[in-house]
Amino acid sequence: MTRSLEPAERVQAVGPSGIRRFFEIAEERDDVISLGVGEPDFSAPWAARDAAIQSLERGKTSYTANRGMYDLREAISSYVADRFGLEYGPDEEVLVTAGASEAVDLAFRAFVDPGDTVAIAQPAYISYGPGVTFAGGEVLPVRTREEDDFRLTVEALEAAGAEAADLLVMCYPNNPTGAVMTRADLEPIAEFAREHDLAVLSDEIYAELTYDERDADASPGAATHASIATLPGMRERTIVCNGFSKAHAMTGLRLGYALGPAGATGAMNRVHQYGMLSAPTTAQYAALEALDSCANDVEAMVDQYGRRRRFVISRFREIGTPCFEAKGAFYVFPEVPDGWDGSANDFAERLLREYGVAVVPGDVFGVGGEGHLRVSYATGLEDLREALARIESFVDEHV
Ligand code: PMP
Repeated sequence: MTRSLEPAERVQAVGPSGIRRFFEIAEERDDVISLGVGEPDFSAPWAARDAAIQSLERGKTSYTANRGMYDLREAISSYVADRFGLEYGPDEEVLVTAGASEAVDLAFRAFVDPGDTVAIAQPAYISYGPGVTFAGGEVLPVRTREEDDFRLTVEALEAAGAEAADLLVMCYPNNPTGAVMTRADLEPIAEFAREHDLAVLSDEIYAELTYDERDADASPGAATHASIATLPGMRERTIVCNGFSKAHAMTGLRLGYALGPAGATGAMNRVHQYGMLSAPTTAQYAALEALDSCANDVEAMVDQYGRRRRFVISRFREIGTPCFEAKGAFYVFPEVPDGWDGSANDFAERLLREYGVAVVPGDVFGVGGEGHLRVSYATGLEDLREALARIESFVDEHV
């Protein structure tokens, strides 16, 4: 604490995001194609936007219940049951938040005591580590490996010493690698969590964005994505986070949710009711409509991402940058090509300066990301074609 507005130690402990410098470089050119961003290039489905507009016209501009509008909680409850086999009641087990970001942050603030250890499967979304630090916890990085298709394994957990952790954070389909875990992949992780009494925060924001054959174990019509919370003994120790930013292309509306046992989401709601009151009302109307009537829009977007994914992976392989078969989210995670004399960071910086293509160096996402680049295909095919042609020229010139 300080009287001179000096940031608290926990805030000082967190540096600026490693991606920021790239935005500054990008501003120096006017022909930059960005494959660096983590948000859809689509707009929200029209019906969802229209529902938001109509809610405003009807004067729906007040707070909602802290946990979110009941109709929306009901809709979320049925949607996650149909799609992912997740059974959470609307009264006490669903909490509507300002984006999945708030849900993740609430989980850290509700469950992490100062000095607690939070294991994070890495490479990982950049917000988890700082969120843990702000909550006073200690981050324990768990390195996933390309040989395992960047899936989390018990060997990785053991190598990191995660049996001593209090909470495990995992995100599949994964940002930044695009890795997906099937039910069979999750079973040993669930066993490890049960055996060592680990709580789990499962960020499933990319759950709708998978492109592989259906998981043989999934029920008919269900998504390929499997949630660890559906495995035996996991419901009572897991918080699932999800939201409308990715599948429904609603990043700017800031709407997400957390699912968990009543006591756990109740604890998160205690933080939420003082810190946020309620998630944005207009966005809640949009989200309700998104669940009611926009499944076809989601499917059409997933179809587009699927085509782009195939194109991008095959082009990287042609160019000579090894690229593992990412099966979810909207990212691929190629290695910098053999023969590149430098780090992934140098590669990304020079590619941006010299050829105007923005990608993100993998080390920004923690251990296991070194030597890789995160490339988002949430960009139209025409731009992707041009960007890959530029990357090819860059590699021809320098490697
Ligand atoms: N989790 C992951 C893994 C993400 O990639 C993102 C967005 N980049 C978020 C959470 C945050 O999503 P929201 O917009 O719902 O806060």
